[in-house]
Amino acid sequence: MTKFQSLGLEQPLLQAITDLGFETPSEVQEKTIPILLAHETDMVSLAQTGTGKTAAFGFPMLQKIDIESRTTQGLILSPTRELCLQITSELKLYGKYLPGLNVVAVYGGASITEQAKQIKKGAQIIVATPGRMKDMIGRRMLDISKIEYCVLDEADEMLNMGFYEDITDILSHTPEDKCTWLFSATMPKEVAAIAQKFMDQPQEVTIGAKNVGADSVSHEYYLVNAKDRYQALKRLADMHPDIFSVVFCRTKRDTQKVAEMLIEDGYNAAALHGDLSQNQRDLVMKSFRTRQIQMLVATDVAARGIDVDDITHVINYQLPDEIETYTHRSGRTGRAGKTGVSMVIISKSEQRKIKAIEKIIQKSFIQKEVPSGMEICEKQLFHLANSIKDTEVNHDIDPYLPKIHEVLEDFSKEELIKKVFSVEFTRFYNYYKKAKDLNVGGGNHPEDREPAKVTEDSTRYFINLGRKDGLQWMDLKDLIREVTELPKDDVFHVDTMDTFSFFNTDSKYVDLVIEAFKGVQFNDRRVEIEISKDRGGRKFGGGGRGKDKGRKKGGFGKKGGFPDDRPKFKGKSRRKEEWPKEKGTGGKRRRKR
Ligand code: ADP
Ligand code: MG
Repeated sequence: MTKFQSLGLEQPLLQAITDLGFETPSEVQEKTIPILLAHETDMVSLAQTGTGKTAAFGFPMLQKIDIESRTTQGLILSPTRELCLQITSELKLYGKYLPGLNVVAVYGGASITEQAKQIKKGAQIIVATPGRMKDMIGRRMLDISKIEYCVLDEADEMLNMGFYEDITDILSHTPEDKCTWLFSATMPKEVAAIAQKFMDQPQEVTIGAKNVGADSVSHEYYLVNAKDRYQALKRLADMHPDIFSVVFCRTKRDTQKVAEMLIEDGYNAAALHGDLSQNQRDLVMKSFRTRQIQMLVATDVAARGIDVDDITHVINYQLPDEIETYTHRSGRTGRAGKTGVSMVIISKSEQRKIKAIEKIIQKSFIQKEVPSGMEICEKQLFHLANSIKDTEVNHDIDPYLPKIHEVLEDFSKEELIKKVFSVEFTRFYNYYKKAKDLNVGGGNHPEDREPAKVTEDSTRYFINLGRKDGLQWMDLKDLIREVTELPKDDVFHVDTMDTFSFFNTDSKYVDLVIEAFKGVQFNDRRVEIEISKDRGGRKFGGGGRGKDKGRKKGGFGKKGGFPDDRPKFKGKSRRKEEWPKEKGTGGKRRRKR
């Protein structure tokens, strides 16, 4: 008796197993199959990817359904079209000695009428993606009211992809007394909640440690001024030359705009949103799958069900309106055993949203700095070196080589390397050499501030707190306002150094300020405050870091503040080769919401 036989499987299936060359059942199969064969029960089965879960539910389902009948008795929901097709073909192999077995795959992006036709012929088992399934139910193209077994395969993935509502809807069309079998690689809270909601005293099989979440994704945020959002996005992309990412925006309009700007700036980008036709969307997805597109800018709705593995980065250009949606977004990366990064670009007012998201995902964000121009140049340089190293020589250029040699004959290898690299480097260098620090509080740059009023009547103070205390100028300003209870505009020119800082107030507040700071402590240290002789205003004081060099000083109030989070889009189009200036040319076009 083979091991498979001892699990309770019958001859036609055993024969197929032999044909498949499966010798021994995997652990999840060994534990799950006997239970499912022997009992009419709900089941939660947790095991890593690649451990043979398809067979663990496939064989019992095939053995339990009535092949003579043409009623649909088994429904398998899976997150992606690929998986749906894969499961369907596996089941057909498992059931090859079951005459009359009809397994039909139902998934988006293919003819719905064709799928309906196949089901009409009598499909005992339907394997479906939730979106298309819901569609077909709505159009009364199939009947799942007599389902006996329902499998939620890769439940964690389905939830990550935002299919919760679809699943709920689909299950409401199935009978109460069916058996529900849930398979998942991980058991995050959301999956546990589904099990709770849709299952009745499920048996539980767990292989290995119960994995509570996708630890394959790390979460980062970048704090910038709202007006610098787009520049930050570009830097993040430039810092990762091999990026393969989904960039999430809140609205269709922003999605389109950001994609257009990226394309103008020479990135391989495209937009994916609901205003595109199905055909356009298919084309975009095809180019994304084949990596012709490196940055897919998408709305949440359109990105639902993106079934592309290997996405290296999810970039939250804007946070979603509903923070719960964040999980769906970040779940697009770190799939199939890979690791991924979910990056969030936020402005100061959104910081508390990060806290709220951390509660939901039960993981901490790492605050990262938007890379500086020079860091990017360096990165690109080494990326170029490595791609030259890995490039396969194209022998079609052979005939031209003698001429090329002639042109370059006066140069040594060293000189040639310098020249080759200069071609690429200069482009980035010219673009980034004057680039400012985009991090909020990342330096003391006047552009970041609201217009300040330096009057003859203002007083400059010295305070013994600085960056070493973890304070950037905005934090310090908040702190000063907290202590003094002065209005926002009455504390200005806050310049943080490493161990001390300066700030100004209107001279009429001098007594108030000095008084207010009496006895104040910060991290167990007495806060000291003195009136500085320096009037302040148009300089940073000492201690400028290397980074600050070359930065234009002064210029307060030139730019005016941006009152809200709306990204300001450039009005004019640029040629691709021409790298844009760091700053937008103004915000004429406004986003309507
Ligand atoms: P999971 O759903 O757990 O990620 P799959 O069901 O897709 O895993 O199975 C992974 C691979 O292992 C498939 O190619 C499948 O054919 C193969 N496989 C499944 N069970 C066995 C077995 N008992 N022996 C050998 N190969 C198996
Ligand atoms: Mg599977």
